[in-house]
Amino acid sequence: MSYGYTGNILHIDLSSRKHWIEHPFEIFYRTYWGGRALALYYMLNQMKPHTDPLSPDNLLIFAPSVITGAPAPAIPRYTVCAKSPLTGAQGEAEAGGWWGPELKKAGFDAIIIKGSSKTPVYLWIKDGQIEIKEATHLWGKDTGTTQKIIKKELKDDKVRVAQIGPAGENLVRFANIVNELKHFNGRNGLGAVMGSKKLKAIAVKGTKSIDLYNKEKINQVTKNITKRIMDNPLSRSLRELGTPAVVRSFYEAGCLPSYNWTTGNFKEGESLTAETYNKTILKGTKGCFACPIRCKRVVEVNEKDLKVDPSYGGPEYETIASLGSLCGISDLKYIAKANELCNKYTMDTISTGMVIAFAMQCYEGGLLTKEDTEGIELTFGNKEAMLKMIGKIAYREGLGDLLSQGSYLAAQKIGKGAETFIHQVKGQEIPMHDPRLKTGVGLQYALSDYGADHMKAAHDPFFKDKDSEGIKEMKGLGILEPISPTDIGEKKVALFKLLDIYWTVFDILGVCDFGYVPRSVGTMEELLKIIRSSSGWETTWFELMSLGERSINMARIFNHREGFSSKDDTLPEVFYYPFKGGPLDGKLAINKKDFQKALRLRYQLMGWDPDTGIPTPAKLIELGLHWLIDEVKS
Ligand code: SF4
Repeated sequence: MSYGYTGNILHIDLSSRKHWIEHPFEIFYRTYWGGRALALYYMLNQMKPHTDPLSPDNLLIFAPSVITGAPAPAIPRYTVCAKSPLTGAQGEAEAGGWWGPELKKAGFDAIIIKGSSKTPVYLWIKDGQIEIKEATHLWGKDTGTTQKIIKKELKDDKVRVAQIGPAGENLVRFANIVNELKHFNGRNGLGAVMGSKKLKAIAVKGTKSIDLYNKEKINQVTKNITKRIMDNPLSRSLRELGTPAVVRSFYEAGCLPSYNWTTGNFKEGESLTAETYNKTILKGTKGCFACPIRCKRVVEVNEKDLKVDPSYGGPEYETIASLGSLCGISDLKYIAKANELCNKYTMDTISTGMVIAFAMQCYEGGLLTKEDTEGIELTFGNKEAMLKMIGKIAYREGLGDLLSQGSYLAAQKIGKGAETFIHQVKGQEIPMHDPRLKTGVGLQYALSDYGADHMKAAHDPFFKDKDSEGIKEMKGLGILEPISPTDIGEKKVALFKLLDIYWTVFDILGVCDFGYVPRSVGTMEELLKIIRSSSGWETTWFELMSLGERSINMARIFNHREGFSSKDDTLPEVFYYPFKGGPLDGKLAINKKDFQKALRLRYQLMGWDPDTGIPTPAKLIELGLHWLIDEVKS
């Protein structure tokens, strides 16, 4: 008897329109558990190196985990993986919502999609039955319209739909995938991979429940966590203010990314704070499957010339900064509109804001002209121009076509020094957290398999003193001593090695980063109880940390096969210089030599070659990855 997983992996070839179901043994599930680990197993085994990400040979994999769908707080997530058209590396993005649990209820642990359909299609999966349906009538439609039509066609309003909008169809390299209109597999352009396969959507419905080993125990743990959520100020703040809560501290400290990272000093920061947000645009909050935290924002604007539809949720912190201060814009209503447009078209808001801010700097510096922008005055602070550019990128019109390729390729095309205005790692635009104040986040930007990402570990301030949540709650991992957020010495490197692996376990298992340590919501022990009670496996954090490390090494080898090496583990140059303007003026540059020394130490701690960053055969043997040894020998 299996618990937590269905034992069914669905394979679909869209070129031949055939499907088959694989039934792996228990040992496979216990080795890979789901998410990125499971996906990487197939990517390494079934994809040839140097596959064009937008060709039929790229695999597009949807994978929840053995515990996704357990009726416990903050475990709703599933992963989508493919080779990324933005970075050319392993691509990955996790999303919450309801789609992952529903896929499992519909009878599958993962979907592996290859090939490409000649005409647009969508998949309809219900209680183990699979249908490939025509979607020509949906192609070109935005996400809200598509979802309505699919639910109507299938005569079921409770069907869960993961889909792409026009940006995915038009192969924008940072197009994303959305479920229920507001839960995103956000980064790495996986929506473009879906578009290249002419796959508009995957609708799922299951009427059976997931078999769990001990539901009673999960309920008990859930009760304790839910009570704590109601009493605890940190999780209350997450519900009341959401991720925009950080705007105030960043803007007051002078590190809110502004004007394409030329300063952290945004004078109009007050108009972007969570308090202003709640007063002006917030309509309510929403959550994900079985999660009582309900941190997701829902906004509405109802003005004569500007309307924002609440069906598309509301901007999170990353969006407020990337489409706000980074573009010199301080009007939350316009940022809410920009968020709605990105969600309708399925475009990652971080990359969208970053490419527009980059273009604004190019325009102000004379590298782009009014002729290039087709008459748009693309200056910092021009909120109408920002909205126009979003549409142009989604439909790849004019300058939008160039920007749809991401800032790295766009800068190469523009030339004339435009490369100095981009801020990316492995081709992916950096998120809205400044590593000069959180060096561990900088290490994670540099080392992330799929380009700069802020969700690769807890952030440094959680470990800043003995009363910080990370120090109080993560002793079970051996994290005992506080470290300054700006330190980049040996202890910081060792700390972030652990955090990287631990957060990777979250990604594999579909655990939301906001739900468990170090946020004073669920504890490590409680999460372990949920994992054991879902799967029936008497697992330990030792086994789970090995799982996390296994997947990091698999991703490293995938990227090595694609030609990535230690030279790609970089940090944007801007962070090697001090802040300009505001309270931090002239302070806090990261020392490049120290950073490179830290990277080298991290390779060694991971069991990788200190020069090349390639996993050693011994490390692969330790992690049960003997089957990859030939890859490192070659
Ligand atoms: S904490 Fe927020 S994002 Fe995470 S699962 Fe709960 S509602 Fe969803």
